[in-house]
Amino acid sequence: MSIVDQIRDTKDITPDELNLILNTEDKELIESLRAAAREVANSVYGNKVFTRGLIELSSFCRNDCLYCGLRRSNGEAVRYRLSEEQIYKCCENGYRLGFRTFVMQGGEDGWFTDERLLPIIANIRKRYPDCAITLSLGERSRDSYQALYDAGANRYLLRHETADPDHYSRLHPAEMSWQHRIDCLYQLKEIGYQVGCGFMVGSPYQTVETLYKDLQFIRSLQPHMVGIGPFISTHNTPLETFPNGKVSTTLRLLAIIRLLHPHVLLPATTALGTLHPQGREQGILHGANVVMPNLSPLDHRKDYAIYDNKICTGEEAAECQACIEHRLRRIGFETVVARGDFKE
Ligand code: SAH
Repeated sequence: MSIVDQIRDTKDITPDELNLILNTEDKELIESLRAAAREVANSVYGNKVFTRGLIELSSFCRNDCLYCGLRRSNGEAVRYRLSEEQIYKCCENGYRLGFRTFVMQGGEDGWFTDERLLPIIANIRKRYPDCAITLSLGERSRDSYQALYDAGANRYLLRHETADPDHYSRLHPAEMSWQHRIDCLYQLKEIGYQVGCGFMVGSPYQTVETLYKDLQFIRSLQPHMVGIGPFISTHNTPLETFPNGKVSTTLRLLAIIRLLHPHVLLPATTALGTLHPQGREQGILHGANVVMPNLSPLDHRKDYAIYDNKICTGEEAAECQACIEHRLRRIGFETVVARGDFKE
């Protein structure tokens, strides 16, 4: 039995197999990995790709992650925060364009207290009963996660960044705790959110061993979504001299994750599209089934600068939507107007 069949049939991978797949130059092996991952994705989701409208709420952040352009120590980052009205406008526009999931992402901006955020979520829930509300606002208290859930949020994205505590401490300042981030993910799941974890591929100090731990962590958490994209070296950050993550490694990991977790929601990320003009299409062809076009207001797009050279910062939401639809159609895939929930 080939190594790819083995991974698919057992839904498991050994450290040696991971090492082999990430380092091989055997094009046939990689093509068989890709084809198997796409076949598994097809068997669950067909040629349908779910779209989520991304609304970038705020570029203020209290954290100081060593890789991120929005870290609080970056005095050159342009800070903005959407008003309540701007957020509703984004949703309105997104709904009209066919989005049935709104992803509200932002830095950890202290302005968005529960007091301010809860009525916003409740209003969106009331106006769009047929839509999913996804939050990606970093680490908050359990009570806050619960209150946001009760107000109508359905999903939460919080990348674990790395499943290795030592690796985590080389990517984050000492005041940030790996254990706390992991605790947040389990709390979110317990509350009832559909949960997404994930990591950057090729982040500084990442090894095959830390990646293996990432895969094991995903196995134990059993998230509904897994977001991965290449690390992108970003100016004015302490890690700016490290090289970008590799597109090819990201694609291989997407395929492996699809084989290990046939039902998981797996986005072809903007970071992948940033490092390669066909990165997102390649992501879909390696088993991804989600894309997240940008719904943020044009005048703030370029200021949600988590990494350098981010794509899609100059187009209206409608253009982004049309562009991604066209790109997917060209490779034989279709976007659907649906919430796109995880299915057991
Ligand atoms: N504050 C939120 C949202 C973070 S931005 C939170 O903490 O969850 C979303 C993701 O972008 C991060 O989790 C990180 O994995 C990724 N990211 C940040 N900087 C990056 C960089 N330089 N290159 C690639 N991805 C990056």
